[in-house]
Amino acid sequence: MVTASLPQALAAWREAPRVRPLNNRALVRGGRYVLCWLQQALRAHDNPVIDAAIRLGNALGLPVLVYHGLREDYPYASDRLHRFILGASIDLAAGCAARGLACVRHVDRAAAREKGLVHRLAADAAGVVLEDQPGFVARWQAERVAARTGVPVYAVNAACLVPPAVLSNAISGRGGFLRRHEPERAAWSEWGEEAPDTPPYSGPLPFAPDRPEEGDPGALVASLAIDHSLPPSETHAAGRAAAEAHLARAATIVLPSYASARNDATRRDSASGLSPYFHFGVLGPREVMQAASAAAPGKQHLAKFADELLGWREWFHYQAWRLQSPERWDRVAPWARATLADHAADPRPEAESLNAMLRGETRDETWNACQRQFLADGWMHNNLRMYWGKRIIAMTPSPEAAWATACYLNDRLSLDGRDPSTWGNIAATFAGTPSEREQPIYGRVATRGDGSTRRREGGDAWLAQAASRAVPQISVPAEVPVDPYLTGYSTP
Ligand SMILES: Cc1cc2nc3c(=O)[nH]c(=O)nc-3n(C[C@H](O)[C@H](O)[C@H](O)COP(=O)(O)OP(=O)(O)OC[C@H]3O[C@@H](n4cnc5c(N)ncnc54)[C@H](O)[C@@H]3O)c2cc1C
Repeated sequence: MVTASLPQALAAWREAPRVRPLNNRALVRGGRYVLCWLQQALRAHDNPVIDAAIRLGNALGLPVLVYHGLREDYPYASDRLHRFILGASIDLAAGCAARGLACVRHVDRAAAREKGLVHRLAADAAGVVLEDQPGFVARWQAERVAARTGVPVYAVNAACLVPPAVLSNAISGRGGFLRRHEPERAAWSEWGEEAPDTPPYSGPLPFAPDRPEEGDPGALVASLAIDHSLPPSETHAAGRAAAEAHLARAATIVLPSYASARNDATRRDSASGLSPYFHFGVLGPREVMQAASAAAPGKQHLAKFADELLGWREWFHYQAWRLQSPERWDRVAPWARATLADHAADPRPEAESLNAMLRGETRDETWNACQRQFLADGWMHNNLRMYWGKRIIAMTPSPEAAWATACYLNDRLSLDGRDPSTWGNIAATFAGTPSEREQPIYGRVATRGDGSTRRREGGDAWLAQAASRAVPQISVPAEVPVDPYLTGYSTP
């Protein structure tokens, strides 16, 4: 059990509720630096992980060393994910340099294999500051480093505007969550960035860092042992400039009609398209809410946007923070699992092969339109995702297979997948409000039609075009993995 308290530099910080110790070790006085290990919060500014490390470093008279590593063997590693991460990593390093911080990177590959780099870097550190991410491989990697290293490890929440720890840990519904969350928002919207007191770290390192900005990131990614059948997104470029362009477009074009247009999947400008940048932390909610408010799109539009970004996204982060394994089937509401189990043996005339589903070649035109957005763009419009998720229940042999397939497709293809919002939304899609009517296969889980898209002007034509758009022919596994994040990944 972890009983350590925070060192004064972090305990006295106004952002202290974001921080929790992951082990009971004491700060090492002879350390060369404070190690700041980033996995997903890949931004140099408005980043509480970096700020916490700077505070700790200043208190100890030490510089901060920011580290980001990119490995070949994380689940679903592909050209799509690797290019996106590498772009963010390159801009992270440039932003750190501008802040007076050293940032070192390593891209793992056959020609430059390094084992246990985080542990080796931690061996020279006074302490480690890392991210508090409640899912994918990040959580157990952080716990593993904390258990094995001889220095204190502090986990910092960077994903949410309001850190989950300031909310009661017994909230059971979104209504109760909003009642606790909304009054906290104003206080957490203000922040002041920390400045390092010492020059950037320039001492010895246990490896020769990579400088991916100096070569061709495409060639580097092409040389790796990852899934090359999934190319980069057609709509979401990597890096901070692309994120800022999406944010500027959202502020000026999307938000002024957001409350009324958000459900229209036929229009690209009905949604911000920001979720990939949130998932990889290129943008944070604090900065984005400030930009949205500054754009003054109108009260109802701003309120709707805040409800999605803070009311829904942070609700799912809160749920994941409380769950040991937020990505597992057993998180779906018990009544929904029970009613789906009651109908598990029902005939499934609309069952599809994994090959047809993965490639968007099923008998369901609307579903194919949804899936092809994932395939080509690495992103899907919110309104399509609900239909897409519900239909998988009828297309697969059992409720558990439906869960595994939905998570697999989402996590492999979507840039914003492998996220608390992924599993929270799929769980909600598989449950929601119980319907009065008992139906084959679904039991009392409500089904959903495609009318909200099809009935729009030009909706039929849009769906037909979207269902036949050219997409990458990606590799198809023999079966979808079950609980892929718990196995098959080695030491960071
Ligand atoms: C079955 C299903 C699977 C989903 N999988 C994911 C996923 O893997 N990753 C993911 O980030 N979101 C997921 N969502 C939620 C939502 O569909 C996406 O966040 C949204 O479509 C992203 O597009 P956008 O950035 O244009 O959203 P916008 O409408 O512009 O919203 C702005 C931001 O608010 C947040 N947001 C919006 N809707 C939701 C929501 N329902 N839940 C949580 N946050 C929300 C996102 O961070 C988003 O970027 C899923 C929804 C469903 C129904």
